[in-house]
Amino acid sequence: MREGIVLRAANGLYTVQAQDHHYHCSLRGNLKKDLRYTTSAAHAPRVTHARRAMVNDPVAIGDRVQISETGHGAGVIEEVLPRRTRFTRAGFRGKEQTLVCNIDQLVIVFACADPQPDLWKLDRFLVAAETQGLAPLIVANKRDLVGRDDAARFFAEYGSAGYPIVVTSASERDGTAELAARLVDRVSAFVGPSGVGKSSLLNAVQPGLNLRTSEVGGVTHKGRHTTTTAQLIPLRAGGWVADTPGLRQLDLLDASRDEIESAFPELRLLLGRCRFQDCRHDHEPDCAVKLAVAAGELAERRYRSFLALAAEASPRS
Ligand code: GDP
Ligand code: ZN
Repeated sequence: MREGIVLRAANGLYTVQAQDHHYHCSLRGNLKKDLRYTTSAAHAPRVTHARRAMVNDPVAIGDRVQISETGHGAGVIEEVLPRRTRFTRAGFRGKEQTLVCNIDQLVIVFACADPQPDLWKLDRFLVAAETQGLAPLIVANKRDLVGRDDAARFFAEYGSAGYPIVVTSASERDGTAELAARLVDRVSAFVGPSGVGKSSLLNAVQPGLNLRTSEVGGVTHKGRHTTTTAQLIPLRAGGWVADTPGLRQLDLLDASRDEIESAFPELRLLLGRCRFQDCRHDHEPDCAVKLAVAAGELAERRYRSFLALAAEASPRS
């Protein structure tokens, strides 16, 4: 048996990469009906929750699988390892379909200028990443259009909140080696508004890498591809980039208030220190969050962004 990762799926056949080989695999018959997903300890609660409904979705792009070889580059998928994260879309007859699973890292790209960075939108992506159990990486691209100091200043509040940031210029190949290094050995998905340079960055990382990237809300990018299937693209340096027709769940439709609260790392540290246990950090007296804002320890804009997102939270919990 070999362990591999599913790169593509079509008509019940799967392309599985194991070390440097690609295998065309079918699925062991009993897996279709009888698939068991062992529970792993380290994943977000909502993923566990999502996993229950997965009867019709035995294997998806990004699954780690055990295969047995049957010769001539063919194989059979014998076992599917536990999924850590999962993105779905509405499939036929309202059934949920897994688009891609086990994405590790959400690479959130914004430009320093042209278009101007919309930090409120960046906050939404960050909350989406946190609630989906994905590690976010912020990329501040088009650094060449502003001074180095401006680039740092625009995104300073994220550095203090503890987020990793890479400042790049795709056109000057500046910072792109650092970005490339952060893609090694994991599955990354690139998101961000249109025109910020996602395609250019991917091309700088690996020339010829031309794939769809997700805009907010999951609109397919520029119609460059006509297919609607997802795939993982292996990087020559190791690691994979997810090529998906849109990560729909990134639009945050049903994050709860608690999830949004704990998705702000700098606010998470303060939880439990307010006078009221159910403090909404809004008009309450002795609120640790508001005190931190007043003391300049928490960025005012991030605080207001939290209030706005919390007001959209789903009522459950
Ligand atoms: P996407 O929509 O996010 O994939 O963005 P593209 O990669 O298509 O880039 C949008 C535009 O911005 C193109 O005209 C690029 O040439 C330009 N662009 C991308 N990266 C940079 C950069 O680092 N600096 C500058 N000045 N322009 C860039
Ligand atoms: Zn409070």
